[in-house]
Amino acid sequence: FTHVRYNVQRLGFAAVTTEDIAFFNGLLPGSVVTDPDILEASNVDWLRTMRGRSQLLLRPRTTEEVSQILRYCNSRNLAVNPQGGNTGLVGGSVPVFDEIIISTVQMDNIINFNSTTGVLTCEAGCILENLNNYLEEQDFIMPLDLGSKGSCHIGGNVSTNAGGLRLLRYGSLRGTVLGLEVVLADGAILNCLSSLRKDNTGYDLKQLFIGAEGTLGIITAVSILCPRKSPAVNVALLGCDSFEKILDIFKESKSMLGEILSAFEFLDYSCREVVCEHLKLRNPLQETPFYILIETSGSNDDHDQEKLSHFLEKVMTSGLVADGTVATEENKIKALWALRERITEALVHDGFVYKYDISLPLERFHEIVIDMRNRLGVRAKRVVGYGHLGDGNLHLNIVSPAFDQQLLDSIEPYLYEWIAQHCGSISAEHGLGFKKKNCIYFSKSRAAVHMMQQMKAILDPKGILNPYKTLPAFTQ
Ligand code: FAD
Repeated sequence: FTHVRYNVQRLGFAAVTTEDIAFFNGLLPGSVVTDPDILEASNVDWLRTMRGRSQLLLRPRTTEEVSQILRYCNSRNLAVNPQGGNTGLVGGSVPVFDEIIISTVQMDNIINFNSTTGVLTCEAGCILENLNNYLEEQDFIMPLDLGSKGSCHIGGNVSTNAGGLRLLRYGSLRGTVLGLEVVLADGAILNCLSSLRKDNTGYDLKQLFIGAEGTLGIITAVSILCPRKSPAVNVALLGCDSFEKILDIFKESKSMLGEILSAFEFLDYSCREVVCEHLKLRNPLQETPFYILIETSGSNDDHDQEKLSHFLEKVMTSGLVADGTVATEENKIKALWALRERITEALVHDGFVYKYDISLPLERFHEIVIDMRNRLGVRAKRVVGYGHLGDGNLHLNIVSPAFDQQLLDSIEPYLYEWIAQHCGSISAEHGLGFKKKNCIYFSKSRAAVHMMQQMKAILDPKGILNPYKTLPAFTQ
């Protein structure tokens, strides 16, 4: 059958039978879900824009169980959909048709933490925030932080190569993930769970699975390098009246704050409106067209505060900043961060959200937001721009009261062509999932996509792992 809304045809996988369910009940007693009410939450994505029709959810507890599930599914030609916290924003985490959902929710044990090296090894289903809380007790933190931290799993984070709020300081998961354990489509267990920082023996296979969105294997365990928790954290929220000034402040912050700069986040006035309107958050600053949130973290409070005040003095007296506030106390820091972190949540209350997560050269960063406002006019309820400016990553979100195909046709492919023309990426950190897989050519050459398809064919010859996602259909 065909998925009408998305115009995609079900591939020739087998359908789940009562014999299959009996097999899984024998393999995973108590961890096989067929109750439609419980399945509903796993069939619908966080944005509530995609709905699958899976009738079977499996919650394995061990790598061995994942291996047996995949061996069986591969032999029966049953398609599967790996799922972590189901917070993905590109429709990769939910089935398109009746794929079996394999959730890591019951694989949430910490295997080991070495406080000398800072290497944490844990199962894939650990919730990011739980890992961070565990580490904080030992004066460490996770090297990544996302607005979805209370639900997302570390396995999902690695599978999407999640970026987030700390990337500016600690780099991407491609650097901090030291090892992975992965179950391949045929059930083979690939143990690359190294905790070494340096290991140049052959190809670095774990990199294949980072950002593969569950299309090449199911990640079952992760080892990751964690930084020390900084005892001194300061946050400044600054209001600016032009985007050019923001770029000047960014340059100044890199030079004057240097090694203590840990976040440089951007939001425009529409974001402030949406969080104040729907979440009743309070904006402590006067109204300006743009805001930036700067975080510093370091080991010496006096030293950091001195650096930060010199920096603030410079940007205020030179007229780069129109208004500003600084927080050193935890509750105030959290309140300032909420203005940035809760934008995604506030937008969902606003209507149907067309989400774009793009990388752009900094000079062009906000141009596309203005361009889109002019192009869409009153047809869009809101066009907002925010994101990880320090990483060149803009979240462009457009809202309409309900889904509107004509509005979508005015946005795409125009937006993707614009991004390609300005040498950006159509997906900076959310991945391609189901919604954006056919747009890959705006950011990757045909030869590169062809090589990806060949790699997929080698690792998953029957294509059972997360079909319809990440890569366009294979053509010779
Ligand atoms: P899921 O959504 O369950 O799955 C995501 C993809 O990974 C799917 O394709 C799934 O099949 C695959 N997958 C999941 N687990 C595994 C596994 N163990 N093995 C193989 N494949 C697997 N993202 C960012 O990068 N930066 C942000 O700042 C950010 N902020 C967010 C804020 C909010 C409020 C929300 C709702 C989302 C945000 N996201 C952000 C997106 C999302 O949280 C991330 O993509 C996250 O890494 C997904 O993790 P998850 O466990 O929820 O994975």
